[in-house]
Amino acid sequence: MRPIGVFGGTFDPIHYGHLRSAFEMLQALDFEEVRFIPCNDPPHRGVTYATAAQRFRLVELAIDGQDGFVADDRELRRDGLSYTVDTLISLREEFPGRSLGLIVGMDAFLGLPGWHRWDEILEIAHIVVAHRPGWKAPDIGVLGEMISDYGTHRVRELHTAIAGRVHIHAVTQLEISSTEIRELVAAGRDPRFLMPDAVRDEILNMKIYAGD
Ligand code: ATP
Repeated sequence: MRPIGVFGGTFDPIHYGHLRSAFEMLQALDFEEVRFIPCNDPPHRGVTYATAAQRFRLVELAIDGQDGFVADDRELRRDGLSYTVDTLISLREEFPGRSLGLIVGMDAFLGLPGWHRWDEILEIAHIVVAHRPGWKAPDIGVLGEMISDYGTHRVRELHTAIAGRVHIHAVTQLEISSTEIRELVAAGRDPRFLMPDAVRDEILNMKIYAGD
């Protein structure tokens, strides 16, 4: 059985940067599926701008009809802060014996040592890092060590082991950010072509990010 990609984030809102990275991972790493898992209450960010239900709805609209893309609401069904380690534990319970690949952008990967119980993550899943514009892979410190101890260039290893490897994967660089999209919408401008039309239509119709 092929690995499951686990793509968490605030997705406030989801955009083509997220979607294209996930799609390239799905294909290049030969994953069975990529699960998009919006967080309920993000530990690092404090606030979100759209509600969890709205962000989840935007994810569902974004991936509608795409084979291998799954919207997963497990963090919304859990109270309290959304810790990635808890999400991985719950996926491991649901899919024992299955390879899991936690997908993170390089910016998120650099913040990994600040995550709750981050040192347990590789016991449960692989970490697949997507290059993002302007971010470089660390070669020193705990993350540099992690890459030298557990890093692999071989995609096969993500299939033969169910957890424990770090794989850095270059994806098409789309310099789109949710922050910029929110600012643009709040300024009354149109986010078309930064995201699927269905997501853009829902944002404008429901006046999400429209400001006060
Ligand atoms: P913001 O702009 O508000 O900081 P974000 O898009 O960076 O938002 P998230 O929605 O939490 O934040 O990102 C989820 C994951 O997607 C993270 O791992 C992040 O690194 C990655 N990501 C975000 N934008 C891109 C992009 N343009 N290309 C590739 N990966 C991205």
